[in-house]
Amino acid sequence: MIDTHCHLTYPDFAGDLGAVLQRAADAGVTGFITIGTDPEDWRHTLDLVERFSASPYTVRASLGLHPNEAAIFTPALAEELRKLARSNPRVVAIGETGLDFFREQCPRDKQLDSLRAHLRISAELHKPFVLHCRDAEEETLAELAAFRERTGAPLKGVWHCFGASQAHAARAAELGLYFGLNGTVTYPKNDALRAVVATLPADRILLETDCPFLPPQGWRGKRNEPSYLTKVVATLAEIRHTSPDDIARLTTDNAGRAFAL
Ligand SMILES: [Zn+2]
Repeated sequence: MIDTHCHLTYPDFAGDLGAVLQRAADAGVTGFITIGTDPEDWRHTLDLVERFSASPYTVRASLGLHPNEAAIFTPALAEELRKLARSNPRVVAIGETGLDFFREQCPRDKQLDSLRAHLRISAELHKPFVLHCRDAEEETLAELAAFRERTGAPLKGVWHCFGASQAHAARAAELGLYFGLNGTVTYPKNDALRAVVATLPADRILLETDCPFLPPQGWRGKRNEPSYLTKVVATLAEIRHTSPDDIARLTTDNAGRAFAL
């Protein structure tokens, strides 16, 4: 299995990352896409990917400016991102980027400028974008549709930590997005999310942890880690009336296609 969205550079893993990846492998998770969220984290992310390049694990990177960091966005920063992503085959995606109107740590126009730059880089380098979307579903989908209209090219991206409505999911699927599913599908209060997840197209669902954040039910309040994906898989199997093995196989195939692995 592949954890398509994790933050392995975060200090939470500084002391025991080797053991964390070993536990993941023991649970059947051997591929990781670790997300670099700002310029300093990009360097740490590339160092980490390099460090594990000779390991039994397949660690890949996605680089982007998190919407909560978008206050520092400039065209020069986008150019730095473009160069890093272009020159490094282990960078398989661009992001996370997007709109966060929940925390709203950054002005909306800055978040939009940053999102648009990420979409351009993604299209130019033929690497999918990774979207973070919080309380901004309409604005995000409108922006993606406008981008597709302008460029005339098909979009390829992942809606990370998907948690929107059935109608938004349908529009996102039509736009060419994959859906990153994580511990939130296991939370007792999230019946509405589970109902939507039950109907997502089978060829578009991906596994992710977003670790160290969003631990599945059973580990809430603790550090999340990739080995806990088995809980997400079990829940998805239940929701979608299939077996954990089938979910594992399906999502690994999808990840291979989404990220051209
Ligand atoms: Zn993330």
